[in-house]
Amino acid sequence: NQGLGSWPARRARMTPDRVALSHRGDHRTYRDLRTRTDRLAHALRGLGVRRGDRVAYLGVNHPALVETFFAAGLLGAVFVPLNHRLTAPELSFVVEDAGAAIVLLGDGQDGSGLPGRHVPAGDYERLVASGAPGPIDEPVDRDDPCLIMYTSGTTGHPKGAVLTHANLTWNVVNLLVDVPFAHDEVTLISAPLFHIAALAQTLLPSVLKGGRAILEPSFDVARVFDLIETERVTVMFGVPSMFGFLARSPRWPSADLSSLRHLLCGGAPVPMPLIRSYEERGLTLLQGYGMTETAPGALFLAAEHAADKAGSAGVPCFFTDVRLVAPDGSDAAPGEPGEVYVRGPNVMPGYWRRPEETAKVLSPDGWFRSGDLGVADEDGYVRISDRIKDMIISGGENVYPAEVESALYGHAAVAECAVIGVPDERWGEVGKALVVLRPGATARPADLLAHLDGRLARYKIPKYLEFVAELPRNAAGKLLKAPLRARYGDPA
Ligand code: AMP
Ligand code: MG
Repeated sequence: NQGLGSWPARRARMTPDRVALSHRGDHRTYRDLRTRTDRLAHALRGLGVRRGDRVAYLGVNHPALVETFFAAGLLGAVFVPLNHRLTAPELSFVVEDAGAAIVLLGDGQDGSGLPGRHVPAGDYERLVASGAPGPIDEPVDRDDPCLIMYTSGTTGHPKGAVLTHANLTWNVVNLLVDVPFAHDEVTLISAPLFHIAALAQTLLPSVLKGGRAILEPSFDVARVFDLIETERVTVMFGVPSMFGFLARSPRWPSADLSSLRHLLCGGAPVPMPLIRSYEERGLTLLQGYGMTETAPGALFLAAEHAADKAGSAGVPCFFTDVRLVAPDGSDAAPGEPGEVYVRGPNVMPGYWRRPEETAKVLSPDGWFRSGDLGVADEDGYVRISDRIKDMIISGGENVYPAEVESALYGHAAVAECAVIGVPDERWGEVGKALVVLRPGATARPADLLAHLDGRLARYKIPKYLEFVAELPRNAAGKLLKAPLRARYGDPA
């Protein structure tokens, strides 16, 4: 087995007694992780899971999620982590689209209404115990799919980015080139593992190096400070909002942060004041830029240039290439914006069962179009300057206006609508909906927002909703968002 499923066994060969995972005071060594993932793989095989089948997991960060990921890898099955913040209809779409053979449910997750077969959290330990011990012999190639991670789509429905074992492995190699992770790192994982950054930038490097990962079910400011101080945390990943919450907390000035070695920050634009407030405490936010489709690292700003290139997302990762492409298709000159294209061994082979969507973003010669704009300086350091794709990033979660608009159109009073992102101190951006009511309709903004409740995950629901007389369109009838942003781009 050349895939990620073999990592617990490879690690257990070297350092069986080191703690691999800590969760709420429960510690598992690499030997435990190996034994349990072997058993779980046998048990899943007993339930009929075969090579290539999709195995989904719904829940917060928990050792069971990690074990399911590795056990699926042992079988050559494809792990599909589900975002528990999605509503039941959103989740059903994803489970159906992935064609999941089985869904494992974490604590407190109710799988009723989800298609397919489920394993309730209460049955998990019995399932693990029911599996035979010992290695499972399944040929897995590095180019086999390992993971399908869903990202929302501009078309209104999420699509699954397929990542291979090789994609994820190369991402970890790229990361280790830039960040000197030691064998004794204590990595705090409080960002959700169903997003690529927590999985590929923190969990996998920790397992590769034989470090200890602390799994937290959610991001809780007080818990994070407690854990940093008592567990002497050395590594963390966070989206800018998370690091912002820490820096604005009353605990910030007095907290003992002396154990921290590597703080990885990305997933959304990283504001300069945030970088400065960490600098003032002698801490460096290592900015990285990437996306689910690139597993995720594309650009990284190494610590030695964090000060002189502050605000930039760095240079391409070692084994990865980045181009900035001007509108005419040529390479953008330094100082000029261009669309960020990414090529390398970490770039996904495509979206799950979506050849047309794949063709739109992946060229035959391997370049992936990000939909982001970047500007390089004379030294090749890239600042992410804007977004071409119609997407909002709120607290690190991507929100596609198309998805929100289509839900709004489901309300009878809505004649026309458009959703734009507006700046927000806590979340980076939040949504603002501009709605033209049907003649005679009497709905209030609160009615329309209530209509979205239960249809869309909470973080997708616009914070603001305003009625307008009309929406700007070009001669062809296409909605123009730029003038809307110019006119309504202020929060309130
Ligand atoms: P996701 O697929 O959820 O990881 O989202 C990827 C998107 O997040 C990218 O296409 C960017 O728009 C945005 N993003 C990620 N990292 C950064 C960064 N360092 N600066 C600005 N935007 C970022
Ligand atoms: Mg993101």
